[in-house]
Amino acid sequence: MSKYVDSVLKNLKAKNANEPEFIQAAEEVLLTLDPVLKANPQYEQNAILERIVEPERVVIFRVPWVDDTGKVRVNRGYRIQQNSAIGPYKGGLRFDPSVNLSVLKFLAFEQVFKNSLTTLPMGGGKGGSDFNPKQSPHTPGKRCSDAEVMRFCQSFMTELFRHIGPDTDVPAGDMNVGGREIGYLFGQYKRLANEWTGVLTGKGLSFGGSLIRPEATGYGDVYFAENMLAKRGQTFEGKRCVISGSGNVATYAAQKLMQLGAKVLTLSDRSGSIVVKDGITPDLLAEVMNLKTVKRGELSEIKAKGVQFVAKKNSWQLVDKIDAAFPCARQNELDGKDAAYLLKHGCTLVGEGANMPSTPDAIDAFVKAKIMYSPGKASNAGGVATSGLEMSQNSERLSWTREEVDAKLKGIMKAIHDNAWEAAAKYGKKGNYVVGANIAGFTKVADAMVAQGVC
Ligand code: NAP
Repeated sequence: MSKYVDSVLKNLKAKNANEPEFIQAAEEVLLTLDPVLKANPQYEQNAILERIVEPERVVIFRVPWVDDTGKVRVNRGYRIQQNSAIGPYKGGLRFDPSVNLSVLKFLAFEQVFKNSLTTLPMGGGKGGSDFNPKQSPHTPGKRCSDAEVMRFCQSFMTELFRHIGPDTDVPAGDMNVGGREIGYLFGQYKRLANEWTGVLTGKGLSFGGSLIRPEATGYGDVYFAENMLAKRGQTFEGKRCVISGSGNVATYAAQKLMQLGAKVLTLSDRSGSIVVKDGITPDLLAEVMNLKTVKRGELSEIKAKGVQFVAKKNSWQLVDKIDAAFPCARQNELDGKDAAYLLKHGCTLVGEGANMPSTPDAIDAFVKAKIMYSPGKASNAGGVATSGLEMSQNSERLSWTREEVDAKLKGIMKAIHDNAWEAAAKYGKKGNYVVGANIAGFTKVADAMVAQGVC
């Protein structure tokens, strides 16, 4: 590690000692940048690292709302505006009890590099709240009602609206923020701002949403993996895949893998995992999608023939022969032991759909084993890329067809793959997508920051 990186990391750890996820994400990127910093002394001269790890702005606010019994509840809302060098801040909103400053800063930091990789003009941001739509505050074991979720979203937007705008900051969905929540948030923004603009992405199709946006992160993850396989003359036909999660990213990754002839053997959620020895069928996947997005239930409720439910276990160590793994649920969900199991059981491809799902020791194991390993900031960028396409359609007042958007998504995932591949090769790390994605994402933002002076 160079002296420069060492001193920035020491300072960052001292200043943000209570933010482990943020430190983990920053360390993961900074430790790969030495060659590019050495070749470009202007980055150190302009304090690019010191500036890139410091959010341009952090907004923290109170979110009061009224539950169905009439009691007032209070949550905490956040928006991290990390970096606007190459475009308006852009990144999702997460509603989950695990949300705190550290988690959102790690996500906003990752988003800067991811958005840069998409080739579109988008800066990085992230936001959310510790609100838990999956647990009613007054009835144990019940979810919040639609009316409670709506009142929460309206209160959240009542503060957020003054910090965002179509040319300033354009939020989208993330964990527990899907079509329902984006609809409520958009409605409240429109009321407050008295204007109809593309201020949020992931909108419903009847009010400015883009075809393929719901599918984009999962499909994009698989398109990226297809590119890694193509480099080695392989395809997904017959490959045995394990997936974690059963939300937006996981289910559309599963759908695309099945379309490409792969066998999807597992999905998971907080209750546990389902394992299907002969591969999940399209009908079963449709049942899971309906369960998670309409009934809002748990995988333990699936009773179909041939489905084994394993309580409280993630997907990694449940199947004997594995060709590829797709972590699509949450951060740090795949550790060193899981990585060792996957490698021992034949896994040669890991395509991250979630943000930072592999722990540092798991990443080390994959890189050492020289398998096809794609970090989330590269392989899950299809979602935000398609959000960028939604912004373009909103500005043009046009809607592109499903085929047009899918073709653009495929093209973008290939470009991200090729840029990461070439950047890694240029700095002597051929095939290492971690180094390649970090360097390719960083360079564009760093050059823009240098050009814009001290700001
Ligand atoms: P989602 O629809 O809310 O699904 C999240 C999935 O992860 C659910 O199956 C959930 O289980 C599971 N999960 C969450 N916390 C868990 C825990 N503590 N233990 C076990 N399972 C847990 O969210 P998503 O949009 O698919 O996002 C998944 C990941 O992809 C996140 O890391 C997100 O940041 C990343 N990502 C998403 C997008 C996007 O466009 N949506 C884009 C880029 C990256 P339950 O159903 O039981 O809660």
